[in-house]
Amino acid sequence: MQKVLTVCPYCGCGCGLYLHVENGRITGVSPSRSHPVNTGSLCVKGWNSYEFVQHPERLRYPMIREKGILRRATWQEALQKVAEGINRVKAAYGAHSIGVLSSAKCTNEENYLMMKFARGVIGTNNVDHCARLCHSSTVGGLARAFGSGAMTNSISEIKEARVLFVIGSNTMEQHPMIAMHMLDAVRKGTTLVVADPRQTQIARLAHLHLRHRCGTDVALLLGIMNVIVTEGLVDKEFVRRRTENFDAFESLLDKYPPSVAESITGVRAADIRKAARIYASEKRSMLFYSMGITQHITGTDNVRACADLVMLTGHIGLPMTGLNPLRGQNNVQGACDMGALPEFYSGYQPVKDPKARRKFQRAWRRKLPERPGLTLMEMMDGGVRAMYIMGENPAISDPDATHVRDALKKLDFLVVQDIFQTETTEYADVILPAASFAEKDGTFTNTERRVQLLRKAVDPPGEAKADWQIICELSELMGYPMHYRGSYEIMEEIALLTPSYGGILHHRLEEGFGIQWPCPNSNHPGTPYLHRKKFARGLGSFITVDYIPPAELPDEKYPFLLTTGRIYFHYHTGTMTRRTSVIEREEPLCFVEINREDAKRLGIRDSFPVRVKSRRGEIEVSARITDRVPEGTVFIPFHFREAVCNILTNPALDPIAKIPEFKVCAVALEAV
Ligand code: SF4
Repeated sequence: MQKVLTVCPYCGCGCGLYLHVENGRITGVSPSRSHPVNTGSLCVKGWNSYEFVQHPERLRYPMIREKGILRRATWQEALQKVAEGINRVKAAYGAHSIGVLSSAKCTNEENYLMMKFARGVIGTNNVDHCARLCHSSTVGGLARAFGSGAMTNSISEIKEARVLFVIGSNTMEQHPMIAMHMLDAVRKGTTLVVADPRQTQIARLAHLHLRHRCGTDVALLLGIMNVIVTEGLVDKEFVRRRTENFDAFESLLDKYPPSVAESITGVRAADIRKAARIYASEKRSMLFYSMGITQHITGTDNVRACADLVMLTGHIGLPMTGLNPLRGQNNVQGACDMGALPEFYSGYQPVKDPKARRKFQRAWRRKLPERPGLTLMEMMDGGVRAMYIMGENPAISDPDATHVRDALKKLDFLVVQDIFQTETTEYADVILPAASFAEKDGTFTNTERRVQLLRKAVDPPGEAKADWQIICELSELMGYPMHYRGSYEIMEEIALLTPSYGGILHHRLEEGFGIQWPCPNSNHPGTPYLHRKKFARGLGSFITVDYIPPAELPDEKYPFLLTTGRIYFHYHTGTMTRRTSVIEREEPLCFVEINREDAKRLGIRDSFPVRVKSRRGEIEVSARITDRVPEGTVFIPFHFREAVCNILTNPALDPIAKIPEFKVCAVALEAV
């Protein structure tokens, strides 16, 4: 048996694991003991991260749809068809009528090539990926406050912190190995404060659980900051030396004494005061957040309020402090870093900046478009006539799924590149079979900016190929040859053009610990925490935010507030976890969490079917009666194709990040 050291393909923790290979097949998994994140452990998804790789339903050869029927095709036929489809739409409607979705499941090298293909070959900045739906508010909000939109500190610092303040993160289920570090810290005496409307597992273990109403995060954070200012807990020296715009920000806080924050959030004023004192009084306080605060129409404001809080207390720029967004997918950080975003090249170099554009034009020998492109949501709203989707399943993952499916149906041309048939491939004119994480080399960047090496353990099934190879072959066919001897050569190009990845090369990652960016040159060891002496933008900027209620609140017709999210056993649209027998056995059905009192009132019984309706559609799910959700609120996970909860969700957008409000919409329930 051969053991191949690689990286888990699921969440942003980026755990190191070995794939056990016998006779060309993966037979097992074991954790890396020396890995700085998982230190010899894995969660259930990590332990079972190989079954889907060998699943009989893997895509094995390209397919072309003719007269509504899919048929097997050769690579040459399929790529020719893709090139013709893209060229036809481009000739008829222009390059900006084509949209490209890159993938947080693919490697950095593949995301870099996909954005190079969109910009350099098609000639459009219409390139985006699922970060739009999870952390685009982090990228935008933190770029304005600090100049860099990534987790500021490292996972290994957690166990030495004195206070952990977690807001909008179901850490035990979504980032189990980060939660493990948090629980280690709590066992050693660290104080844990959790703000979450649901009583999640991490909330149950907290010393203080702030159970605020969904969508009132800004009011809660402003209330906490009001206490910090009025009780003299501000780090004045830090504010004076390291920040700007404090006065305008401070004057707004007068509007949010704890009593006002209590009336908006439902959290007792005494608990708001307590949380403020706990967080501000200790020097080693770390703040964590995730999609509980980013997926709102005020997602950017929520992130900015968190940034204000860490600057107010000086809890940034030191070990065991910082503002730490927990990124969802295994490589969503890397896909953003690589410029799979409509407004940035790799390393967040703006496409609007003529200097940056000239640099990429020179390197790629192509004239590049100047105008930032369309976001994923804008593409789905009729902004494009053709799409190239790599490793994403918007038919399930995007809000108002019925509208998304209509948009996919209306496209003049759709190519989908994936490892399985999905609900999105149902609309594809061409399907290209891709290699999974176990069948290719490359790098993933985890949530703490750690760039790690992924290694090929087995061959892809049938004629499937690595995404980067497919992009290169298509590009050559379209008149722009891209030749790389391996993904390591793509990384060399990334390093040349991307200052924060300047010293990141495959041979430096061989030991299996990765390197945290920024890493400007090949002698640099990487950066465990950011903003040490100054912020990436120079001075940190306080940003004044005000409370705005969610776009759609319960009313007489739709009296319940629906919030959505993931669960421990499944991942995203279930493409991989639902093809993993142990995991599927544990959680095979979609459910709705309903509070006991609500269930009693409506005559709903546990495990019985319930119809859930919103203004956009309805689904049927099984009832799970619980105290995890407060009265008047229900929760549905979004993994299940049999009950797509995004049929219900509201596509209302944050005006800056264009992230939809997955976390709040109004629904009605009835027993079936
Ligand atoms: Fe994989 Fe995340 Fe579990 Fe680690 S915590 S094993 S990265 S799913």
